[in-house]
Amino acid sequence: MGSLLVDNIGELVTNAPRDGVDDPLGLRRDAALLVEDGEVAWIGPARYAPAADRRIDAGGAAVLPGFVDSHAHLVFAGDRAAEFAARMAGEPYTGGGIRTTVGATRAASDDELRANVRRLRDEAMRQGTTTIEIKSGYGLTVADEARSLRIAAEFTGDTTFLGAHVVPAEYADRPDDYVGLVCGPMLAAAAPHARWIDVFCERGAFDADHARAILACGQAAGLGVRVHANQLGPGPGVRLGVELGAASVDHCTHLSDADVDALASTRSAADAPAAGTATVATLLPGAEFSTRSPYPDARRLLDAGVTVALATDCNPGSSYTSSMPFCLALAVREMRMTPAEAVWAATAGGAAALRRDDVGVLRPGARADLVILDAPTHLHLAYRPGVPLIRQVLHNGVPR
Ligand SMILES: [Zn+2]
Repeated sequence: MGSLLVDNIGELVTNAPRDGVDDPLGLRRDAALLVEDGEVAWIGPARYAPAADRRIDAGGAAVLPGFVDSHAHLVFAGDRAAEFAARMAGEPYTGGGIRTTVGATRAASDDELRANVRRLRDEAMRQGTTTIEIKSGYGLTVADEARSLRIAAEFTGDTTFLGAHVVPAEYADRPDDYVGLVCGPMLAAAAPHARWIDVFCERGAFDADHARAILACGQAAGLGVRVHANQLGPGPGVRLGVELGAASVDHCTHLSDADVDALASTRSAADAPAAGTATVATLLPGAEFSTRSPYPDARRLLDAGVTVALATDCNPGSSYTSSMPFCLALAVREMRMTPAEAVWAATAGGAAALRRDDVGVLRPGARADLVILDAPTHLHLAYRPGVPLIRQVLHNGVPR
Protein backbone atom coordinates (compact mmCIF):
# COMPACT_ATOMS: atom_id res chain seq x y z
CA MET A 1 0.00 0.00 0.00
CA GLY A 2 2.94 2.34 0.65
CA SER A 3 3.03 5.49 2.74
CA LEU A 4 0.73 8.48 2.40
CA LEU A 5 1.42 12.01 3.62
CA VAL A 6 -1.46 14.39 4.40
CA ASP A 7 0.27 17.71 4.12
CA ASN A 8 -0.52 21.41 4.47
CA ILE A 9 -3.05 20.90 7.30
CA GLY A 10 -4.09 24.33 8.60
CA GLU A 11 -5.59 23.01 11.83
CA LEU A 12 -5.23 19.42 13.03
CA VAL A 13 -7.56 18.10 15.75
CA THR A 14 -5.72 15.19 17.41
CA ASN A 15 -7.64 14.71 20.69
CA ALA A 16 -4.18 14.00 22.09
CA PRO A 17 -3.42 17.02 24.32
CA ARG A 18 0.18 17.84 25.13
CA ASP A 19 1.31 17.52 28.73
CA GLY A 20 0.33 20.49 30.85
CA VAL A 21 -1.73 22.17 28.12
CA ASP A 22 -5.46 22.66 28.71
CA ASP A 23 -6.58 21.80 25.19
CA PRO A 24 -8.70 18.62 25.00
CA LEU A 25 -8.70 18.75 21.19
CA GLY A 26 -4.89 18.72 21.06
CA LEU A 27 -4.90 21.30 18.25
CA ARG A 28 -1.85 21.70 16.01
CA ARG A 29 -1.34 24.35 13.33
CA ASP A 30 0.47 23.93 10.00
CA ALA A 31 0.80 20.19 10.51
CA ALA A 32 1.36 17.07 8.46
CA LEU A 33 0.39 13.48 9.14
CA LEU A 34 2.00 10.32 7.76
CA VAL A 35 0.00 7.13 7.21
CA GLU A 36 1.59 3.68 6.96
CA ASP A 37 -0.17 0.31 6.97
CA GLY A 38 -3.52 1.90 7.80
CA GLU A 39 -2.19 3.61 10.92
CA VAL A 40 -0.93 7.04 11.82
CA ALA A 41 2.87 6.74 11.72
CA TRP A 42 3.93 10.33 12.39
CA ILE A 43 2.47 13.76 13.17
CA GLY A 44 4.45 16.98 13.22
CA PRO A 45 5.05 20.41 11.74
CA ALA A 46 4.54 20.46 7.98
CA ARG A 47 8.08 21.75 7.42
CA TYR A 48 9.52 18.54 8.93
CA ALA A 49 7.27 16.19 7.01
CA PRO A 50 9.02 13.01 5.86
CA ALA A 51 8.95 11.79 2.29
CA ALA A 52 6.12 9.47 1.31
CA ASP A 53 4.95 7.44 -1.68
CA ARG A 54 1.83 9.57 -2.11
CA ARG A 55 0.66 12.95 -0.89
CA ILE A 56 -2.69 14.62 -0.23
CA ASP A 57 -2.58 18.42 -0.03
CA ALA A 58 -5.13 19.52 2.56
CA GLY A 59 -4.84 23.07 1.22
CA GLY A 60 -4.71 24.69 4.64
CA ALA A 61 -8.00 23.10 5.72
CA ALA A 62 -8.90 21.54 9.07
CA VAL A 63 -8.39 17.81 9.60
CA LEU A 64 -9.94 15.81 12.42
CA PRO A 65 -10.40 12.19 13.49
CA GLY A 66 -13.27 10.45 11.72
CA PHE A 67 -16.50 10.56 13.69
CA VAL A 68 -17.29 7.64 15.99
CA ASP A 69 -21.04 7.02 15.89
CA SER A 70 -21.50 4.82 18.96
CA HIS A 71 -25.28 4.36 18.68
CA ALA A 72 -27.07 3.30 15.49
CA HIS A 73 -29.86 0.91 14.55
CA LEU A 74 -29.12 0.10 10.91
CA VAL A 75 -30.52 -3.42 10.49
CA PHE A 76 -34.14 -2.90 9.47
CA ALA A 77 -36.50 -2.76 6.51
CA GLY A 78 -39.07 -0.17 5.48
CA ASP A 79 -39.41 3.36 6.78
CA ARG A 80 -41.87 5.34 8.92
CA ALA A 81 -42.16 8.61 7.05
CA ALA A 82 -45.94 8.69 7.57
CA GLU A 83 -45.49 8.30 11.33
CA PHE A 84 -43.02 11.20 11.29
CA ALA A 85 -45.50 13.36 9.39
CA ALA A 86 -48.26 12.50 11.87
CA ARG A 87 -45.97 13.36 14.78
CA MET A 88 -45.09 16.70 13.25
CA ALA A 89 -48.85 17.27 12.91
CA GLY A 90 -49.19 16.88 16.67
CA GLU A 91 -49.33 13.18 17.59
CA PRO A 92 -47.04 12.21 20.52
CA TYR A 93 -44.08 9.79 20.24
CA THR A 94 -44.52 6.66 22.33
CA GLY A 95 -42.03 4.16 20.92
CA GLY A 96 -44.89 1.90 19.78
CA GLY A 97 -43.94 2.30 16.13
CA ILE A 98 -40.95 0.01 16.71
CA ARG A 99 -43.33 -2.91 16.15
CA THR A 100 -44.09 -1.62 12.64
CA THR A 101 -40.42 -1.92 11.76
CA VAL A 102 -40.21 -5.35 13.42
CA GLY A 103 -42.88 -6.62 11.01
CA ALA A 104 -41.08 -5.22 7.96
CA THR A 105 -37.70 -6.53 9.14
CA ARG A 106 -38.93 -10.07 9.73
CA ALA A 107 -40.45 -10.10 6.23
CA ALA A 108 -37.24 -8.90 4.53
CA SER A 109 -34.60 -11.15 2.97
CA ASP A 110 -30.99 -11.18 4.19
CA ASP A 111 -29.94 -9.38 1.02
CA GLU A 112 -32.51 -6.63 1.53
CA LEU A 113 -31.33 -6.05 5.10
CA ARG A 114 -27.68 -6.14 4.04
CA ALA A 115 -28.27 -3.64 1.23
CA ASN A 116 -29.97 -1.25 3.64
CA VAL A 117 -27.12 -1.45 6.14
CA ARG A 118 -24.60 -0.82 3.36
CA ARG A 119 -26.56 2.16 2.05
CA LEU A 120 -26.72 3.77 5.49
CA ARG A 121 -23.12 2.93 6.39
CA ASP A 122 -21.94 4.51 3.12
CA GLU A 123 -24.16 7.53 3.70
CA ALA A 124 -22.64 7.95 7.18
CA MET A 125 -19.10 7.64 5.84
CA ARG A 126 -19.69 10.36 3.25
CA GLN A 127 -20.50 12.56 6.24
CA GLY A 128 -17.29 11.67 8.03
CA THR A 129 -18.21 8.65 10.14
CA THR A 130 -15.42 6.06 10.13
CA THR A 131 -16.53 3.93 13.10
CA ILE A 132 -20.14 2.92 13.66
CA GLU A 133 -21.85 0.74 16.23
CA ILE A 134 -24.78 -1.27 14.88
CA LYS A 135 -27.57 -2.78 17.00
CA SER A 136 -30.04 -5.56 16.34
CA GLY A 137 -33.49 -5.14 17.84
CA TYR A 138 -35.97 -5.25 14.96
CA GLY A 139 -36.04 -9.04 14.71
CA LEU A 140 -37.08 -10.07 18.22
CA THR A 141 -37.07 -13.78 17.43
CA VAL A 142 -34.09 -16.07 17.98
CA ALA A 143 -33.48 -16.45 14.25
CA ASP A 144 -34.13 -12.81 13.33
CA GLU A 145 -31.91 -11.37 16.06
CA ALA A 146 -29.09 -13.77 15.16
CA ARG A 147 -29.27 -12.90 11.45
CA SER A 148 -29.46 -9.17 12.22
CA LEU A 149 -26.20 -9.43 14.16
CA ARG A 150 -24.57 -11.66 11.54
CA ILE A 151 -25.30 -9.00 8.94
CA ALA A 152 -24.21 -6.15 11.24
CA ALA A 153 -20.89 -7.94 11.85
CA GLU A 154 -20.16 -7.73 8.13
CA PHE A 155 -19.86 -3.95 8.60
CA THR A 156 -18.48 -3.34 12.10
CA GLY A 157 -16.82 -5.00 15.07
CA ASP A 158 -19.06 -3.01 17.41
CA THR A 159 -22.25 -5.04 17.16
CA THR A 160 -24.87 -4.84 19.89
CA PHE A 161 -27.54 -7.39 20.80
CA LEU A 162 -30.76 -5.47 21.48
CA GLY A 163 -33.26 -8.31 21.73
CA ALA A 164 -34.74 -6.28 24.60
CA HIS A 165 -35.81 -3.37 22.38
CA VAL A 166 -39.54 -3.85 23.00
CA VAL A 167 -41.63 -6.86 23.99
CA PRO A 168 -42.93 -8.13 20.64
CA ALA A 169 -46.68 -8.29 20.10
CA GLU A 170 -46.83 -12.08 20.44
CA TYR A 171 -45.49 -11.80 24.02
CA ALA A 172 -47.48 -8.69 24.98
CA ASP A 173 -49.36 -10.40 27.82
CA ARG A 174 -46.39 -12.45 29.12
CA PRO A 175 -43.28 -10.24 29.27
CA ASP A 176 -41.58 -12.58 31.79
CA ASP A 177 -41.58 -15.29 29.15
CA TYR A 178 -40.00 -12.91 26.65
CA VAL A 179 -37.24 -12.00 29.11
CA GLY A 180 -36.60 -15.73 29.53
CA LEU A 181 -36.32 -16.10 25.76
CA VAL A 182 -33.89 -13.16 25.50
CA CYS A 183 -31.66 -14.50 28.30
CA GLY A 184 -31.81 -18.07 27.03
CA PRO A 185 -31.87 -19.20 23.39
CA MET A 186 -31.81 -15.70 21.88
CA LEU A 187 -28.66 -14.67 23.75
CA ALA A 188 -27.02 -18.00 22.93
CA ALA A 189 -27.68 -17.44 19.20
CA ALA A 190 -26.72 -13.75 19.31
CA ALA A 191 -23.60 -13.74 21.48
CA PRO A 192 -21.20 -15.22 18.89
CA HIS A 193 -21.90 -12.19 16.64
CA ALA A 194 -22.09 -9.47 19.30
CA ARG A 195 -19.65 -7.39 21.34
CA TRP A 196 -22.29 -5.60 23.42
CA ILE A 197 -25.71 -6.10 25.00
CA ASP A 198 -28.26 -3.29 25.34
CA VAL A 199 -31.74 -2.89 26.84
CA PHE A 200 -34.42 -0.26 26.24
CA CYS A 201 -35.08 0.48 29.93
CA GLU A 202 -38.16 2.69 29.80
CA ARG A 203 -41.82 2.73 30.77
CA GLY A 204 -43.58 0.68 28.08
CA ALA A 205 -40.44 -1.33 27.32
CA PHE A 206 -38.38 -3.04 30.09
CA ASP A 207 -38.45 -2.16 33.79
CA ALA A 208 -35.40 -2.17 36.09
CA ASP A 209 -35.76 -5.81 37.18
CA HIS A 210 -36.12 -7.12 33.65
CA ALA A 211 -33.32 -4.89 32.39
CA ARG A 212 -30.96 -5.97 35.18
CA ALA A 213 -31.68 -9.65 34.53
CA ILE A 214 -31.05 -9.31 30.78
CA LEU A 215 -27.86 -7.25 31.12
CA ALA A 216 -26.47 -9.63 33.76
CA CYS A 217 -27.05 -12.60 31.42
CA GLY A 218 -25.26 -10.74 28.67
CA GLN A 219 -22.32 -9.94 30.93
CA ALA A 220 -22.11 -13.60 31.94
CA ALA A 221 -21.90 -14.44 28.23
CA GLY A 222 -18.96 -12.06 27.84
CA LEU A 223 -20.76 -9.04 26.37
CA GLY A 224 -20.16 -5.43 27.43
CA VAL A 225 -23.11 -3.42 28.70
CA ARG A 226 -24.89 -0.38 27.22
CA VAL A 227 -28.35 0.91 28.17
CA HIS A 228 -31.07 2.99 26.50
CA ALA A 229 -31.89 5.06 29.56
CA ASN A 230 -34.02 8.01 30.70
CA GLN A 231 -35.19 9.00 27.22
CA LEU A 232 -38.93 9.51 27.58
CA GLY A 233 -39.03 10.24 31.31
CA PRO A 234 -37.15 9.81 34.59
CA GLY A 235 -36.29 6.22 35.40
CA PRO A 236 -33.81 3.70 36.76
CA GLY A 237 -31.79 3.13 33.58
CA VAL A 238 -28.85 5.44 34.19
CA ARG A 239 -28.13 4.21 37.70
CA LEU A 240 -28.60 0.60 36.62
CA GLY A 241 -26.00 1.17 33.92
CA VAL A 242 -23.54 2.68 36.39
CA GLU A 243 -24.18 -0.20 38.83
CA LEU A 244 -23.32 -2.73 36.12
CA GLY A 245 -20.26 -0.86 34.85
CA ALA A 246 -21.86 -0.02 31.49
CA ALA A 247 -19.58 1.57 28.91
CA SER A 248 -22.40 3.94 28.02
CA VAL A 249 -25.90 5.00 29.00
CA ASP A 250 -27.67 6.51 26.04
CA HIS A 251 -30.22 9.34 25.68
CA CYS A 252 -30.01 10.74 29.28
CA THR A 253 -32.74 13.27 28.54
CA HIS A 254 -34.47 13.16 31.93
CA LEU A 255 -31.89 13.03 34.73
CA SER A 256 -32.07 13.52 38.50
CA ASP A 257 -29.18 14.94 40.50
CA ALA A 258 -28.49 11.40 41.71
CA ASP A 259 -28.20 10.21 38.10
CA VAL A 260 -25.68 12.94 37.29
CA ASP A 261 -23.69 12.23 40.48
CA ALA A 262 -23.61 8.52 39.69
CA LEU A 263 -22.25 9.20 36.21
CA ALA A 264 -19.68 11.70 37.47
CA SER A 265 -18.40 9.15 40.01
CA THR A 266 -17.29 6.86 37.15
CA ARG A 267 -15.16 9.50 35.46
CA SER A 268 -11.83 8.29 34.08
CA ALA A 269 -8.67 10.21 33.31
CA ALA A 270 -9.35 12.95 30.78
CA ASP A 271 -6.24 12.09 28.78
CA ALA A 272 -7.20 8.42 28.39
CA PRO A 273 -11.01 8.26 28.39
CA ALA A 274 -11.26 5.01 26.46
CA ALA A 275 -8.90 3.15 28.76
CA GLY A 276 -10.89 3.95 31.89
CA THR A 277 -14.02 2.66 33.51
CA ALA A 278 -16.21 5.69 32.86
CA THR A 279 -19.85 5.18 32.08
CA VAL A 280 -20.23 7.65 29.23
CA ALA A 281 -23.43 9.67 28.80
CA THR A 282 -24.21 9.34 25.10
CA LEU A 283 -26.54 12.09 23.93
CA LEU A 284 -28.65 11.60 20.82
CA PRO A 285 -30.10 14.97 19.82
CA GLY A 286 -31.40 13.62 16.51
CA ALA A 287 -34.05 11.81 18.56
CA GLU A 288 -35.23 14.96 20.30
CA PHE A 289 -35.20 16.81 16.99
CA SER A 290 -37.26 14.11 15.25
CA THR A 291 -39.75 13.67 18.10
CA ARG A 292 -39.95 17.41 18.86
CA SER A 293 -38.94 16.77 22.47
CA PRO A 294 -36.84 18.76 24.95
CA TYR A 295 -33.10 18.20 24.51
CA PRO A 296 -30.86 16.68 27.20
CA ASP A 297 -28.84 19.18 29.23
CA ALA A 298 -25.29 18.52 28.10
CA ARG A 299 -23.98 21.55 29.99
CA ARG A 300 -25.13 20.10 33.31
CA LEU A 301 -23.34 16.80 32.58
CA LEU A 302 -20.13 18.44 31.40
CA ASP A 303 -20.01 20.80 34.36
CA ALA A 304 -20.38 17.80 36.68
CA GLY A 305 -17.39 16.11 35.03
CA VAL A 306 -19.32 13.42 33.15
CA THR A 307 -17.77 12.05 29.94
CA VAL A 308 -20.17 12.92 27.11
CA ALA A 309 -20.48 11.37 23.66
CA LEU A 310 -22.66 12.36 20.72
CA ALA A 311 -24.21 9.82 18.36
CA THR A 312 -26.96 9.71 15.73
CA ASP A 313 -29.34 6.99 17.03
CA CYS A 314 -29.94 6.41 13.32
CA ASN A 315 -33.21 4.44 13.08
CA PRO A 316 -36.35 4.66 10.93
CA GLY A 317 -38.66 5.82 13.73
CA SER A 318 -37.28 8.42 16.10
CA SER A 319 -34.08 9.69 14.42
CA TYR A 320 -33.63 8.90 10.74
CA THR A 321 -30.36 10.72 10.27
CA SER A 322 -26.89 9.26 9.73
CA SER A 323 -25.24 12.68 9.97
CA MET A 324 -22.82 13.31 12.83
CA PRO A 325 -22.26 16.93 11.68
CA PHE A 326 -26.01 17.53 12.01
CA CYS A 327 -26.04 16.09 15.56
CA LEU A 328 -22.95 18.09 16.45
CA ALA A 329 -24.60 21.33 15.30
CA LEU A 330 -27.74 20.50 17.30
CA ALA A 331 -25.63 19.84 20.40
CA VAL A 332 -24.01 23.25 20.14
CA ARG A 333 -27.19 25.18 19.35
CA GLU A 334 -29.66 23.33 21.59
CA MET A 335 -27.63 21.64 24.33
CA ARG A 336 -25.21 24.39 25.31
CA MET A 337 -22.06 22.55 24.24
CA THR A 338 -19.16 24.56 22.86
CA PRO A 339 -18.08 23.66 19.32
CA ALA A 340 -14.89 22.13 20.74
CA GLU A 341 -16.81 20.02 23.27
CA ALA A 342 -19.14 18.79 20.53
CA VAL A 343 -16.26 17.82 18.23
CA TRP A 344 -14.57 15.95 21.09
CA ALA A 345 -17.83 14.19 22.03
CA ALA A 346 -18.42 13.10 18.41
CA THR A 347 -14.92 11.61 18.09
CA ALA A 348 -13.04 10.80 21.32
CA GLY A 349 -16.31 10.67 23.29
CA GLY A 350 -17.74 8.05 20.94
CA ALA A 351 -14.53 6.05 21.23
CA ALA A 352 -14.79 6.15 25.03
CA ALA A 353 -18.40 4.98 24.77
CA LEU A 354 -17.09 1.96 22.85
CA ARG A 355 -14.06 1.60 25.17
CA ARG A 356 -11.71 1.95 22.21
CA ASP A 357 -8.41 3.80 22.18
CA ASP A 358 -7.50 3.14 18.52
CA VAL A 359 -10.12 5.49 17.02
CA GLY A 360 -11.39 8.99 17.77
CA VAL A 361 -7.79 10.14 18.19
CA LEU A 362 -4.89 10.92 15.85
CA ARG A 363 -1.52 9.90 17.25
CA PRO A 364 1.11 7.38 16.17
CA GLY A 365 -0.37 3.89 16.34
CA ALA A 366 -4.00 5.00 16.04
CA ARG A 367 -6.08 3.97 13.05
CA ALA A 368 -5.67 6.37 10.16
CA ASP A 369 -9.36 7.34 10.18
CA LEU A 370 -9.64 11.02 9.43
CA VAL A 371 -11.69 13.71 7.78
CA ILE A 372 -10.47 16.65 5.71
CA LEU A 373 -12.95 19.51 5.95
CA ASP A 374 -13.88 22.11 3.38
CA ALA A 375 -13.23 24.64 6.12
CA PRO A 376 -10.26 26.20 7.92
CA THR A 377 -11.32 25.15 11.42
CA HIS A 378 -13.46 22.61 13.31
CA LEU A 379 -15.66 25.53 14.42
CA HIS A 380 -17.32 25.50 11.00
CA LEU A 381 -19.02 22.15 11.69
CA ALA A 382 -21.49 23.88 14.04
CA TYR A 383 -21.15 27.35 12.54
CA ARG A 384 -22.26 26.18 9.07
CA PRO A 385 -25.00 23.60 9.78
CA GLY A 386 -26.42 21.60 6.93
CA VAL A 387 -23.50 22.42 4.63
CA PRO A 388 -21.51 19.53 3.11
CA LEU A 389 -18.15 20.32 4.72
CA ILE A 390 -16.65 16.83 4.49
CA ARG A 391 -14.19 17.13 1.60
CA GLN A 392 -12.44 13.77 1.97
CA VAL A 393 -12.54 10.77 4.31
CA LEU A 394 -9.67 8.38 4.96
CA HIS A 395 -10.70 5.04 6.48
CA ASN A 396 -7.86 2.77 7.61
CA GLY A 397 -5.62 5.13 5.64
CA VAL A 398 -7.54 4.58 2.41
CA PRO A 399 -9.18 7.57 0.70
CA ARG A 400 -12.94 7.01 0.25
ZN1 LIG B 1 -31.39 3.82 20.16
